[in-house]
Amino acid sequence: MPTKGLSSHHPISEEQFQQQVTDLAQVLGYDMIYHNPDSRRMQAGFPDLTLISTSRGIVLFRELKTSKGRVRPDQVKCLAAMQAAGLNAGVWRPEDLHNKHIERDLRGQA
Ligand SMILES: [Mg+2]
Repeated sequence: MPTKGLSSHHPISEEQFQQQVTDLAQVLGYDMIYHNPDSRRMQAGFPDLTLISTSRGIVLFRELKTSKGRVRPDQVKCLAAMQAAGLNAGVWRPEDLHNKHIERDLRGQA
């Protein structure tokens, strides 16, 4: 078990990651931020976050995973269906925050 703080890439929990993502979305003007409180009460596969910026006219559906978290088949199926229907759907991981991928998606620059 590695000691906390030893690694500069100390892994964060999905809950911490979600907080960072929704904080950033708010800073960037997202005014409608929905997250599934408990995946067990959701129909299987629906993404964790639905983010809407009414000023930008952007709706993002995102499944959040930790760096090593696995995207389940039901989640893959839902995201693929959304993408096939032309929706902006995908997976975000903590590294996407650090490399600005999430910020670009939120700004509509993807
Ligand atoms: Mg998730």
